Amino acid sequence: MTHPPIAYTSTRGRIRGQGFEDVLLAGLAADGGLFVPEAWPSLGIDALRALDGVPYADTAAAVMAPFTAGCFDEAELRDMARDAYAGFAHPATAPLKQLDHDTWLMELFHGPTLAFKDFALQLLGRMFDRVLERRGERITIVGATSGDTGSAAIHATRGRDNVRIAILHPHGRTSEVQRRQMTCVADANVLNVAVKGDFDDCQALVKALFVDEPFRDSMRLAAINSINWARVMAQAAYYVHAALRLGGLERPVSFAVPTGNFGDVYAGHVASRLGLPLGRLLVATNRNDILARFLDDGVYAARRVDPTMSPSMDIQVASNFERLLFETGGCDGDATAAMMQGFKENRRLAVEGEALRRIQSAFVGAAVDEDETARTIRDAYARMGELLDPHTAVGVAAASRRRADLPGPVVCLATAHPAKFPDAVKKAAGVAPPRPVRLDAMLEGDERMVVLDNDLDALKALLIERLGTP
Ligand SMILES: *Cc1c(COP(=O)(O)O)cnc(C)c1O
Repeated sequence: MTHPPIAYTSTRGRIRGQGFEDVLLAGLAADGGLFVPEAWPSLGIDALRALDGVPYADTAAAVMAPFTAGCFDEAELRDMARDAYAGFAHPATAPLKQLDHDTWLMELFHGPTLAFKDFALQLLGRMFDRVLERRGERITIVGATSGDTGSAAIHATRGRDNVRIAILHPHGRTSEVQRRQMTCVADANVLNVAVKGDFDDCQALVKALFVDEPFRDSMRLAAINSINWARVMAQAAYYVHAALRLGGLERPVSFAVPTGNFGDVYAGHVASRLGLPLGRLLVATNRNDILARFLDDGVYAARRVDPTMSPSMDIQVASNFERLLFETGGCDGDATAAMMQGFKENRRLAVEGEALRRIQSAFVGAAVDEDETARTIRDAYARMGELLDPHTAVGVAAASRRRADLPGPVVCLATAHPAKFPDAVKKAAGVAPPRPVRLDAMLEGDERMVVLDNDLDALKALLIERLGTP
């Protein structure tokens, strides 16, 4: 199917009429906003019905094609998606497993780094490479990580011709598994920097690189951050795929989504805007519950981040949430900009009336504390022999508590493999999760990283020396 090209606008309204290619490479809009489609494309019920029984990669290509028109057509997307998902360890890519008579687990952890972020990043690495090849350009991706995102980005870009990547992590402060997932990579286009400092120091260094315009331009710096539209779009595919498997065109299907930055659950909303009839989206948070509180009373108020056993959901501010605010506020960029400015000043914003009711009809929230998470891991193992990672357990616990608010069968997203969090799982379930062979293989070999003082000039010199200018 061919689709007309669509234009993207920033949620802050100052940047409009961008094509998919601009949005892919820019990540964040220059006015500080996030990109969203100016008008939502629709797949239509017949096109969705035609995807019933279609393999995952081909479904993904059909779901993404309306959003990439003008840059990639469906055939190109199919090539990239088949190639990306061929590297997943399960032939179904995103298999569904039945938990009880009407609850399902969607396993999103069969990618190279055992977490759902591989779904989007494996594809993004290929999209970047293709676009840059066409333009005859090369870029340098720089990012800071406290663990998981860095390894997913490295495994998405290793060995690619037109992309070099440097990932900063706090020296000695990530787990051994997390570190080795990043450092046991031999490709010359990958540089790991262990900064003598904490995660905030790493992030400050990356920010300083990006605001140094001459350096940024000469190195062609780019980011693969969690607000890139292409990541959200790529994740919409598994909502469509799962719903079709469960008869989602004849009855509503709901999803329980372990949530941090609101990217994954917003992808479910994108699937719904595309035409998929959805039940409800359950926003499951750990005790960092800003979104669950918002969905109860419309007040979005930041507190201190509280560390939990589901660290990828330990957030204070959910960056993708701005996309929903923009949409429910009538797609008014100035109003969204003012709202976000108010939030920056007061750490608080509020949505009321009809706008809040619309949000609450599509989303419901639940916060799950550490005890309930551990209990859920233990129960799932005792009752079904199923080992859940702590993030997944938050979603399963929330789904069981809010079952009455979730029409139809419920699909709980399993966002990470339990072997990524062996200590928490063993403590809760009493047994350690078996380590998949591919994880062992990934952690073998020599580590490659440079330990560096928390020093911007030293970092710049290192990047030039190791990666060169484009
Ligand atoms: C990133 C992550 C999440 C949260 O996803 P968001 O898109 O930030 O809401 C949940 N679980 C795991 C394992 C993750 O890595």
